[in-house]
Amino acid sequence: MNIKAFGTEAANASLKPMNIQRREVTAKDIEIEILYCGVCHSDLHTARNDWGGTMYPAVPGHEIVGKVTKIGSEVTKLKVGDSAAVGCLVDSCRECNSCKHDLEQYCLNGMVGTYNGKDKHLGGHTFGGYSEKVVVDEHFVLKVPSNLDLAAAAPLLCAGITTWSPLRHWKVGKGSKVAVIGLGGLGHMAIKLAKGLGAEVTLFSRTPDKKKDGLDLGANSVIISTDDNQMKTVKGKFDLIIDTVPYVHDINPYVATLNVNGTLVLVGYLGGLEPFLNTVPMILGRKSVAGSVIGGIAETQEMLDFCGEHNIVSDIEIIKMQDINEAYERMLKSDVRYRFVIDMASLKK
Ligand code: NAP
Ligand code: ZN
Repeated sequence: MNIKAFGTEAANASLKPMNIQRREVTAKDIEIEILYCGVCHSDLHTARNDWGGTMYPAVPGHEIVGKVTKIGSEVTKLKVGDSAAVGCLVDSCRECNSCKHDLEQYCLNGMVGTYNGKDKHLGGHTFGGYSEKVVVDEHFVLKVPSNLDLAAAAPLLCAGITTWSPLRHWKVGKGSKVAVIGLGGLGHMAIKLAKGLGAEVTLFSRTPDKKKDGLDLGANSVIISTDDNQMKTVKGKFDLIIDTVPYVHDINPYVATLNVNGTLVLVGYLGGLEPFLNTVPMILGRKSVAGSVIGGIAETQEMLDFCGEHNIVSDIEIIKMQDINEAYERMLKSDVRYRFVIDMASLKK
């Protein structure tokens, strides 16, 4: 079927209205009318080909919530009229060791991203949530707890799961000392989720006027990372640091703030680190520097259910589809408090 979308034809072009094709539902598919779609910094990286490999036209968007409009004959998970959500992946091989262990995001044969992935049905590449509808195999569709506001729940599908997965993998719980670097979409969800799990949470931010917000979001303390004196006060403190910074930056000052056996997990920047990473504090403190990408489907549902129980959603600013280019510019200036969410009804106008 032919549907309306918003996307870009080139790395240096603005996003604009376009038409794309979606498949008709097959036996295990769910068709979702998209009501809201969050705006992730990865959307911007992909639209502008920051990582290389973007296939054009590119239609970003992987924080999707909406209503089920059609189901295939074998679908059991949801019915027409239910709320539904789709995150960053829409397929994987489902046979490899990772897939068998609910780690579809690490599929050894390559997971299929919601956008810029290989479309196994129509050929070409996948198109994301800046669009009217999406058709996804039920395995990759999530249920949204009924008490959560749909627009504010959308960012849980990427910002939420990307920070939840390392919190769970490194077994954060009551009494854990967790730090978060960068107060943006991922960072503000990391604070809320770590707090929800019972951790003591510190925010590292470059932006002094985000201090009050950090505390209001649940951080126990805020360290302005450009102030060496403040950095010294947390030397050797943290069990886990979640680093959400999207661009190259020096992680050595943060490694110094890890406790013995502590881990700094990079979820933001993809690429070579500069300046070099000094191994001395890592060796002398058995510290780790790690990475993590989104989360599996079962883990995403676990996170959504946890958010339902604890009433956790994102702090959002609702925008119209037509405002997306301006929203990207604001995101580059760290001027998002703390996630843009597109009201997809605006696409129809
Ligand atoms: P965002 O909303 O733009 O937030 C990023 C925050 O990082 C900013 O608010 C800012 O916080 C800080 N920051 C920005 N530029 C910086 C710089 N040059 N140096 C130091 N700090 C800087 O972005 P997001 O949507 O949270 O995404 C963050 C990154 O995670 C992106 O690169 C995105 O592609 C990536 N991502 C990864 C995964 C994964 O699975 N691993 C999933 C989703 C997104 P302060 O003002 O507080 O310093
Ligand atoms: Zn994302």
